[in-house]
Amino acid sequence: MKKKILIIGGGLSGIYLGYLLKKEGFSIKIVEANDRIGGRIYTKNSHTTNVELGATWLWRYNPELLKVCSSLDISLFEQNMNGDALFEAMRTSAPQRFQVPKNQEISYRIVGGTFEILNKLKATFTEDELELNQKVIQIDDKETSLKVTTETSSFIADFVISTIPPQVLVNSVHFSSDLDSGFKQIANNTHTWMKDSVKFALVYKTPFWKEKGLSGVGFSNVGPFTEMYDHSDFENTHFALMGFLNSSLANETREYREEKVNEQLFKFFGEDGKKYLSYEEKIWNEDRLVNYKNDRFITPHFNNGHAIYQQEFLNGKLIVAGSETSPKYGGYMEGAIYRGNQVLEQLKNKFL
Ligand SMILES: Cc1cc2nc3c(=O)[nH]c(=O)nc-3n(C[C@H](O)[C@H](O)[C@H](O)COP(=O)(O)OP(=O)(O)OC[C@H]3O[C@@H](n4cnc5c(N)ncnc54)[C@H](O)[C@@H]3O)c2cc1C
Repeated sequence: MKKKILIIGGGLSGIYLGYLLKKEGFSIKIVEANDRIGGRIYTKNSHTTNVELGATWLWRYNPELLKVCSSLDISLFEQNMNGDALFEAMRTSAPQRFQVPKNQEISYRIVGGTFEILNKLKATFTEDELELNQKVIQIDDKETSLKVTTETSSFIADFVISTIPPQVLVNSVHFSSDLDSGFKQIANNTHTWMKDSVKFALVYKTPFWKEKGLSGVGFSNVGPFTEMYDHSDFENTHFALMGFLNSSLANETREYREEKVNEQLFKFFGEDGKKYLSYEEKIWNEDRLVNYKNDRFITPHFNNGHAIYQQEFLNGKLIVAGSETSPKYGGYMEGAIYRGNQVLEQLKNKFL
């Protein structure tokens, strides 16, 4: 009998695990609360240009992720850093040009957008194996199986893997049998990477910054954007800038943020900066599927990869996975892949 594995969450961790486990012959189902897969990978098409409102870069020191990309025939290209960068030190002075030192670690992007990884992985699923709009609210221990209840359905599985960020899991899903109190305490204090970030992207008709000898890189002590990069595509046919806004602006309206970005663009690039075709943003702090909102500060990466995540719960029927549970590169895409490989080995040893 094929073991039935239910995976909660259709981010990189959930989709990768579904792909791996299906390949090993397990019966899988992935339930995702949102109306899209990807979680913190969010490639949005805007004015026919793909912009990343979530994860963007990978690096040479991401061996597991690079292996996955290579096995899926996914191509990478270097983040464009050619040309001068701009730095705005003070409100009262114009941004200064400077050269970014050449010995920086190279960041790579994925041709077609980060979502390409998910596109390729999910191509192996049948319609029945991945369900959207299924927000899990409760998990009941039924001795030999687990019952997973969503807002509209319920599912029975031999084994469940949660890939919800641990802090969100213990604050949004109800467990009929008490979870280990040590686990709950650690999960509630596990930092979720980038949960407070505010990302923005601007699509342009032409890469006017390149014509001025600029790389599109901008840093600012003033804001609203604190850092910004060229975000044009590999083919160099679609042009964009992308960066991060000061997270204190999360409480303002979209109109206010765009107006302030517009003013800052004028300071950086003159009239050209203001001539964008579209403005996109994502306030991750507001996303209840990623961020459990409370006022407690948790140091970035705190408890990521804690040893407790190596345990199984609910009498050996639940594993808590997801990037933040990875002993290596917790919080990053590499962590999601590393932990996925680890869980695969654990389940192979257990069931095969
Ligand atoms: C703005 C930003 C920039 C980033 N930049 C980079 C980068 O450049 N490089 C890099 O390596 N990493 C980056 N990251 C981190 C990277 O995105 C994550 O490490 C990775 O995507 C995590 O995948 P995951 O599947 O573990 O978690 P998630 O992507 O958080 O997936 C969890 C999934 O669970 C779903 N879910 C939540 N609650 C429920 C529920 N109750 N029922 C069902 N489903 C539920 C969510 O909707 C989500 O789809 C960035 C993240 C952000 C937000």
